[in-house]
Amino acid sequence: MPRLLTLTLSLLAVWAVLGASAASAQKLRVVTSTTDLKSLTEVVTGDLAEVDAMARPTQTPHDVEVRPSLMVKVRRADAMIVNGLDLDNWADVVAEGANNPNVIPGARGRIDASRGILVLEVPKTRVDRSMGDVHPSGNPHYTLDPGMAAAVTQNILEGLARIAPQHRAAFERNRQQFLARVDEAMGRWDAMLAPYKGSPVVVNHALWIYLLTRFGLVQVGTVEERPGIPATANHVVKLVNLMKEDRVKVVVAEPWSDFKLVQRVAQEAGAKAAILAATVGSVKGTDTYLEAVDFNVKTLAQMLK
Ligand SMILES: [Zn+2]
Repeated sequence: MPRLLTLTLSLLAVWAVLGASAASAQKLRVVTSTTDLKSLTEVVTGDLAEVDAMARPTQTPHDVEVRPSLMVKVRRADAMIVNGLDLDNWADVVAEGANNPNVIPGARGRIDASRGILVLEVPKTRVDRSMGDVHPSGNPHYTLDPGMAAAVTQNILEGLARIAPQHRAAFERNRQQFLARVDEAMGRWDAMLAPYKGSPVVVNHALWIYLLTRFGLVQVGTVEERPGIPATANHVVKLVNLMKEDRVKVVVAEPWSDFKLVQRVAQEAGAKAAILAATVGSVKGTDTYLEAVDFNVKTLAQMLK
């Protein structure tokens, strides 16, 4: 091959590589604490960002071990989106460990998705975390309610538009398209659960209050003694009695719960137990936000039948 041609070809190869990495460098790099927030961020960014969740879908987002691999994930991030309300305080440790000034608390690329949300189950007295209660600022599991999608994606959009104002219009278009799909699905979900309005439900961990409240179901007890605190024998006896009195038919648990215990409680009270998708991807076939909500609503409707 003539030398000049070889040289030209290898230069072209170099340009191709540089061009490709320049294109991916233009993509925003976003990390989220949970898979719910990953899914809700992707609907806003479309292909303008690479979005990665720090917590795996199969683990409780309350308790994520801060490993060096997480810090590597966060080192070059342009933005970090957190759930807030004390669900994911571990994200602060990751941000600091990653030594990334873009995403430490207070930085421009740090986005708290809970801004402006009406928080349920706020303790009336000060909760001492040393007692083990993992909901000291109220219930942090607001993403389970599809009615929160508008507020959460608005917070994500505002945060990302701060660091990438050139994409604001595209983000807004993507978000509106997604919210139209949520609206359409909400009609179906409402219809599915409408016959069961006012039905009593028991849950394992207090993870479901936003979802239940949205569709008019009533949480009457939890298998855990308090959020994050396992049941005592005495608590289980009281709960089973209450379930019999209230004719509770359904106990809902998260995939990482002690499901044997949950099933035993349900059985003793003459109820059924089911695992719902506590996070996007935690149950088979729930890899997007809409699929997760859909699974949860359908399972509840089936069990309440
Ligand atoms: Zn919780």
